Amino acid sequence: MTEEPKETKPGFQNPVAGFGVTFKAMFKKRLTEQYPEQQKTTAPRFHGRHQLNRHPDGLEKCVGCELCAWACPADAIYVEGADNTEEERYSPGERYGRVYQINYARCILCGLCIEACPTRALTMTNEFELADSSRANLIYTKEQLLAGLEEGMVDSPHAMYPGTDEQDYYRGLVTEAAPGTERQAAHSEGEVVQEADSTFGEGEPASEKVIRK
Ligand code: SF4
Ligand code: SF4
Repeated sequence: MTEEPKETKPGFQNPVAGFGVTFKAMFKKRLTEQYPEQQKTTAPRFHGRHQLNRHPDGLEKCVGCELCAWACPADAIYVEGADNTEEERYSPGERYGRVYQINYARCILCGLCIEACPTRALTMTNEFELADSSRANLIYTKEQLLAGLEEGMVDSPHAMYPGTDEQDYYRGLVTEAAPGTERQAAHSEGEVVQEADSTFGEGEPASEKVIRK
């Protein structure tokens, strides 16, 4: 059995019907967002740019285990771990993340990496303005992802709080850097310790100075 063709409006009524839609929309609430002039607040648990967190004394929580990289379905994370030494310590344990990169040209902000992280080193912020016209700029490095320093923190690398071990950090027993804690030279990043002097290389040596390359 064939269907009866639907009754259609006469041709001259179609433009009028179109204007009717426009007319009705004029009185509806406007949905246009005035971005970027007016920024909208995201939901509290919005998945935005990642952050590599620190312990309360400034040491890094990342232990370079690569679990986040293995969990990533988009292969967006690259991690290279390395050993801490007493002269150059980035995290309380044995290992730290020497190289850490997230490629935001690949990342789909699914959050599987932060679920995989055993130390809560990796979390996500609410920052969503990640667009860029350069592929290279979309690869965020450890320096870009590492959390800033808060009160009581000293930038890594530096010694652990005296008398504590790695477990104490995870138990929350370390709440700030020990008095007198100083940043060590990051030899693995090419920093060298040189004698600081106004006539460096000529006069009498004064005190040690870290030169960041
Ligand atoms: S949010 Fe998802 S896609 Fe992005 S780095 Fe983490 S696991 Fe990979
Ligand atoms: S962010 Fe977490 S999961 Fe990824 S390497 Fe560091 S400690 Fe491991």
